Amino acid sequence: MQSSQLETLHEHAEGALPLEAVALLFGQVMESQVEVASIELMENMANSSTSFEVDPEREYRLLVDAEERGQDLVGIFHSHPALPEPSARDKRNMKVNPVVWLIASKLTGRWECNAFVYEDERVQRVEIVLG
Ligand SMILES: [Zn+2]
Repeated sequence: MQSSQLETLHEHAEGALPLEAVALLFGQVMESQVEVASIELMENMANSSTSFEVDPEREYRLLVDAEERGQDLVGIFHSHPALPEPSARDKRNMKVNPVVWLIASKLTGRWECNAFVYEDERVQRVEIVLG
């Protein structure tokens, strides 16, 4: 992904504080890498600092639009007040939505983002390659 895209996500997370922020990433799955073409900043419908939900109707429309552009949902971004590691709830949701999960945290004083996939029955960290 572009470093400007990651900055946009971190600004979104900053703006959502103290709630969790959420965004959907669309693009293409290449052989061993995911290309992020566009980012949709979403409202956290759960209005929570420990969980997130997106408006299912908006998500559906975005999925349809992406498909028309030849893109897929490739990633789900959200922020944590805690460490940028998947929570038990995240792990359950990761099994249902097997895309790349990006989790950001400002626990260290500045925004940091980690990426994870659920593969081979476990959560595995993957690298974010910034272009
Ligand atoms: Zn989480």
